[in-house]
Amino acid sequence: MPSSLPDPRGGATCELSLDPEDWDRFRNVAHAMLDEMIEYQRTAGARPAWRPVPGEVRARLDEPLPLEGQPLEDVCAQFVRDVLPYPTGNIHPRFWGWVLGNGTPVGMLAEMLAAGMNANVMGFDQSAVHVERRVVRWFTELMGFPESASGILVSGGTMANLVGLAAARSAGAGFDVCGDGLQGGGARLLVYGSVETHTWVLRACEVLGLGRSAYRPVPVGPDYRILTERLAAMVHSDREAGHRPICVVGNAGTVNTGATDDLQALAAFCRAEALWFHVDGAFGALAALSPHLRAQVAGLEEADSLAFDLHKWGGVPYEAGCALLRDREAHRAPFAAPAGATYLTSPGRGVQPGRMEFGELGVQLSRGFRALKVWMSLKAQGVRAWSRSIEQNVEQAEYLASLVDAHPHLELLAPVPLNVVCFRYAPPGVEGPALDELNREVLLRIQESGLAVPSSTILQGRFALRVAITNHRSRRDDFALLAGAVVREGDALTAAADGALSP
Ligand SMILES: *Cc1c(COP(=O)(O)O)cnc(C)c1O
Repeated sequence: MPSSLPDPRGGATCELSLDPEDWDRFRNVAHAMLDEMIEYQRTAGARPAWRPVPGEVRARLDEPLPLEGQPLEDVCAQFVRDVLPYPTGNIHPRFWGWVLGNGTPVGMLAEMLAAGMNANVMGFDQSAVHVERRVVRWFTELMGFPESASGILVSGGTMANLVGLAAARSAGAGFDVCGDGLQGGGARLLVYGSVETHTWVLRACEVLGLGRSAYRPVPVGPDYRILTERLAAMVHSDREAGHRPICVVGNAGTVNTGATDDLQALAAFCRAEALWFHVDGAFGALAALSPHLRAQVAGLEEADSLAFDLHKWGGVPYEAGCALLRDREAHRAPFAAPAGATYLTSPGRGVQPGRMEFGELGVQLSRGFRALKVWMSLKAQGVRAWSRSIEQNVEQAEYLASLVDAHPHLELLAPVPLNVVCFRYAPPGVEGPALDELNREVLLRIQESGLAVPSSTILQGRFALRVAITNHRSRRDDFALLAGAVVREGDALTAAADGALSP
């Protein structure tokens, strides 16, 4: 070695790293776990859709802090015994609760590759930045945004929506809200959207300092779509009262029923009123990938900002969402690194030849390589397969709705424009709270049996079984199984109640 400096303290003898001591042994464990997980994915439908975490497993997971390491073989064995068998169930073909995605084996593989690279994608001259830029560009194209648009991958819909609203706030405040915040008083900044908008909007208003009461919920019609004329009236009267409306949120697929607002009308209204138009397309925006469904969400391409998830209808494993913004400068405004961050200033070439591109487009500075799983999934599966899978889910929702319609004791509780079906078991003579209670029990029995996982919601005061289909593993027959189980459990409960009542 040429001219190394002498070590005044003498050479250190046993320095430690966290790498395996025995790489061959590690390789064996890792290969076995890869096989385990491939098999787990392959047999996703062979286990119950859900099962509770048993008491003895909970007890075993309630462990003291491990001060010393134990063999990786033992840790993996515990994972296989105590962790792996008790998931939420969302990789199962009959999981339709809330809005959860399945993930895919390709996505799983990509997660391992990304973790192996351990890229920090805040910026830097590294391949991962190019992969994320490309992914954002692909979605710009798919969603019909202009090529000059900006975008970033984030943890999910909530964060993507927050990014959009943050940009709306700084663009619409009328003063330097990024510099001065909201402490200076002045007109109240207000945000509008339908009563069916997901509660991310309240959280975002709170986090952005606007306060939850800055959100003005606008009524919907019987189709659960925003009443645009009511919106206009509210905006105008708020202006007259001296407030400052800044943003309208449109829904492409509401969480409750899959309704899509008239996005074209909202876009025109926002243009006329100089308001920021944000669209929450958490799952619904992905309908734009299908030539047959695109018309359903027409108008989202006119948004100033659009948020959607990739871990729901995109089938990418958690976590992955995307925010697209029409104007790059408006996107960067709330997140740009202050000049004082000298440690982030580019020296002009080398590892950091320019600004921290993605680190200045969202809340996170350090951020992982979630673009890889999206990039690999799209490349390996192709947009056409995503589109077909989305269409398939919509056809399955129509099929389930037809089964509900055809059965005298089943009742649809909302229109089914997309992939969400809300219905209930409604035998003659049971009404009101008793009917709600009956359906709650039907839901819980089906979940607890492990057959399927629907969830629930309340629509116009009525308890609804809710089936949200963002599941590439579901097959038509799975929905017949569900409808059959609802009738069976409902009949059994009603018969038991009748039995209890008769002398
Ligand atoms: C799921 C969902 C969200 C929130 O997205 P996360 O990925 O859970 O943060 C927002 N809006 C709608 C319509 C959703 O379905």
